This record gives sequence, structure tokens and C-alpha cells, in this order.
Amino acid sequence: VADNAIRTIVIVGGGTAGWMAAAAIAHKLNRRCAIRLIESAEIGIVGVGEATVPHIRSFNNTLGFDEADFMRSTNATFKLGIEFVNWARIGDAYIHPFGELGRRLNGVDFHHYWHKLCELGERDQQDIFDVSLPILAAKQGKFAIPAADNSVLSTFGYAYHFDATLYAPYLRKFAEARGVVRIEGKIVDAALRGDDGFIESVTLENSEKISADLFIDCSGFRGLLIEQALKTGYHDWRHWLPCDRAVAAPCETTEMSVAYTRSTAREAGWQWRIPLQHRVGNGYVYCSEFIRDDEAAATLTANLEGTLQAEPRFLRFVTGLRKKSWNRNCVAMGLAGGFLEPLESTSIYLIQAAITNLLDLFPTRGFDEADIDEFNRVMALEYERVRDFIVLHYHATERDDAPLWNHVRTMAIPDSLQYKMDVFRDHGHVVKYKDGMFLETSWHAVYLGQRIVPRHYDPLVDTLKTDDVRRYVDEVRALVHRGVAAMPSHGSFIARHCGIAAAQAP
Ligand SMILES: Cc1cc2nc3c(=O)[nH]c(=O)nc-3n(C[C@H](O)[C@H](O)[C@H](O)COP(=O)(O)OP(=O)(O)OC[C@H]3O[C@@H](n4cnc5c(N)ncnc54)[C@H](O)[C@@H]3O)c2cc1C
Repeated sequence: VADNAIRTIVIVGGGTAGWMAAAAIAHKLNRRCAIRLIESAEIGIVGVGEATVPHIRSFNNTLGFDEADFMRSTNATFKLGIEFVNWARIGDAYIHPFGELGRRLNGVDFHHYWHKLCELGERDQQDIFDVSLPILAAKQGKFAIPAADNSVLSTFGYAYHFDATLYAPYLRKFAEARGVVRIEGKIVDAALRGDDGFIESVTLENSEKISADLFIDCSGFRGLLIEQALKTGYHDWRHWLPCDRAVAAPCETTEMSVAYTRSTAREAGWQWRIPLQHRVGNGYVYCSEFIRDDEAAATLTANLEGTLQAEPRFLRFVTGLRKKSWNRNCVAMGLAGGFLEPLESTSIYLIQAAITNLLDLFPTRGFDEADIDEFNRVMALEYERVRDFIVLHYHATERDDAPLWNHVRTMAIPDSLQYKMDVFRDHGHVVKYKDGMFLETSWHAVYLGQRIVPRHYDPLVDTLKTDDVRRYVDEVRALVHRGVAAMPSHGSFIARHCGIAAAQAP
């Protein structure tokens, strides 16, 4: 196998995807392979990915990044979840936490015990969100690193908000120190091999030809190699996720420093609020069929808490997935591979998943078709699960006040999601999968937050006497509230742990 090993890799693109791939692959291959990354300053990067999910911590840990150094370098804050405002009904607000609602008992999820007390008229379904440590901490502006024991202070995870334009340079420094060579230049052509259609080389504007055994396409929405050269094709999912544009603008911070993202549903889409140490990132993701660009920008700028720091920037996208993420000797990652709107901050996670799967199934120059198929199967599964989860937020709404909401409420949804919703509606169970994004606790929060209430609670709840159920629920609630009371404020934690020069006051 050794003389058939991949000797050269070219990564096309120096956005978050390109530099994440360069850093992780260089780290893993340990200079056994020449890695070059081509990027064009003239084209630039998208650079709006600012919110993440907890998996990013394992990516950073694998590369050995020091958390405080990483956070200081990217003006990062902590993230305990996402608040959804006005999604099921105007006036609603719930947090999807990185952690549990209550605590499981005897193998039965907490919401079933809660449900029983709701049936008895003793509790309200929506108040279950008051029995979660990350939710209460987020709402009260608190933060602490999860405890390593089995206490209530261990029942959550966390992610980051960071300045995406600073993460790529951070990764670049790491990758270049491990031998990755950066080439500045614009690719104008890609040559395919005559016999099998593999990519042979790319040509830069200055006529330089660069060849490689393996190409990683991180060129953004244009999919320079995977689509323009290889014509791989795209599954268009706009019939399920019709938003196709965004307008983004940063503003000054005025509110208390909170450790969560906010997503507010608006007439033709939704608006994000992502608090960083030095500013707040904002954007309106919308459907161009239902609102004009200038109206969307006006809605965004009318709903900012502080002074605008830059002119609003418009972005266009088509939600969906490349028919094959890996085609011949080209693997697409990031926006070149597919796009799902940032409602659950999943794009950077999907880049990470592509890198991990590529390293798990790393090819030789023989490019075994079975490995390629397996990569494509796993990536399609990852995208479809995230897609279903995002579609759930739109579809499970009672809103009928605008054309977008009427459309998503009444549209046909993917069979895979219909199945998951049917299972939950019956006895409150979540369709399980072992690996990948969004496990049971996330589905619980979004189903309940979107007001999908199961017809019955789990029958095993009745193995406990009702008094014991009451006692258990009260005990967990008290523990959670005591736990949060003991946590420091998010602002003071950041100032101590990783504050930038102008870090906010506690
Ligand atoms: C509105 C919006 C909000 C988002 N919010 C989030 C979020 O909160 N969380 C999250 O995880 N993700 C988010 N994302 C996604 C996130 O921005 C991307 O996943 C991430 O930035 C990766 O982008 P990329 O590296 O694939 O592409 P890009 O940033 O577009 O980089 C493409 C690279 O390819 C290079 N290139 C292209 N063509 C050529 C050429 N011909 N020659 C040489 N070089 C070339 C460019 O110079 C650039 O370096 C969001 C996306 C959008 C659109």
C-alpha cells in the first residue's frame, strides 16, 4: 500500500472549511504528505459563521488548542444554547439547551414525569424549560465549565460564538507551522484526466499549473471543482427550506453579556443575534419570494440593539446537498458540499464531520469506490438529520399571520421527519441514533418548545407512585436552581478566563 499512498493534497479555498481541513489533515498526516492550500484574496470568504455547537470543542482539543488562547484570539464568548422567539406562536420563547431538560430517572426521560403532572393539572407543559441548568444559566447571564462529577452541574455542554474572520487565520498559523503551503492566486481552470475523469491539475491566473493526488474543494458556494469541473449535481431542498437569502450586519453590544444565541422568527424568515466580546453579530435569513432585499435590510436594521458597525451585507444560497460529497479524487467540504441555513449553527459541525469521515476513510491513489460510497452515505445521513431538525422548527408552528408561515405549516415534509414526529406525538419517544448531530435531548427541547405535546407519557412513569413523581420533579427543580445560583456571571467568567483587552465588566 505504501507506494500507492497519497503524496500530494491540494485544498482549494481558505475560508473556515479550507483552513479547518488544512489544520486537521496536517496534524493527522504529520508531514507524510505535501499539502498546499490555494486561496484568492480577491474573491474573499463568506466569514459569517459565528455560532457553533459543542462538537467544535473536540475539534479544537484534538489540535491541542488552548481554550483561553483560542477565545481571546477570536473574541469568543460561550454558548449554552439557542433561544427561539416567536416560532410556534408570536409571544413564545424557549431555549434549546446544550443539555438536559430535568434528569432521567429509571431510564425514563424527565419530560414524561412532567407530563404526568401536567395531565393532573399540577404543571404547565411550557414550564419544563424552567428545570434545565443550561437554560436557567443562559437566561440569568451565568456561565461555568461543566463539572466532571455526576452532579447537576455536569448536566450540560457548551459551544462558542466567535468572529469567523479570525478563526481561519488562527487555524492557518497552526497549519503552516505543520508544513501546509499557502498559495495566493485565483484558479481559472481545472484539467481532468482523459481515462477516468479524475482532476489532474488546476491552473492559476498566472498560468501556473498545480497538480495533486487528492483535491479538497472548499471553494464555497461556487463548488469550483465538485460542480464546475466535475458536474456532480445538487439535491435542491428549497421546497422544505425556502429561505434563500440573508442580510448580515454587526452592531455594538449594549445588553448584559449572555451565553446564548437568539433566533427571532420574523414575517419572511428569522433574525439571529450572536453576542461576541467586542460586538453583536446580526442577520436576517429570509425567503426572497415573500420579502424584497431592501425590506429585509430595513427590518434587520430596525431591530438592532446598538449602533450599526458596518453596512448590511447580502448573501444568496440554495439549500441542499451535493449529490456526492466525494466524487472521483475530489472531496467537497463546507459551502462547496452543501448548505443548510444557520438556524441551529450546524455548518461548521458539518465541515468537521466531513474532515473526520475523510480521515477515517483516507484513500490511497487507488481511490476505492466502496470507501467513497461509505463517505457519501454517512455525509448524506448527517445532512438529512440536520435538515429534518431544522424543518421541524418551521413546520411545527401555529402561525398563520404571513405567507411564509402558512407555506411551511402546511407543506409536505420529508418522510424521515414525519416518522420522527409521529413517534414523538404518540408516547413522547425520540427516534434514536448513536452518532451524529442532535441527540434525544435536543429533539425533546424543540418538540416541546414548538408545542408538540405527546398524546401519552411513557407508561413506565406509573411504576412510581404519584407522590414520588411530585417529590422527584420538585427535587430536580430545586437542585437546578441551587446550581445556577452558585454560578458566576458570564461576563466575569470571560473576563477572568479569556477576556480581550476591552473585556466587559462583570
Ligand atoms: C448567512 C449565513 C450565516 C451563517 N452562519 C453560520 C453560523 O452561525 N454557524 C456556522 O457554523 N456556520 C454558519 N454559516 C456557514 C459558514 O459561514 C460556512 O460554513 C463557513 O464560513 C465555511 O465557508 P467555506 O470555507 O466553505 O466557504 P468560503 O468562506 O466562501 O470560502 C471559499 C474560499 O474559496 C476561495 N476561492 C473560491 N474560488 C476560488 C478561485 N477561483 N480561486 C482561488 N480561490 C477560490 C475563496 O477565496 C475562499 O478562500 C453561515 C452561512 C451563511 C451564508
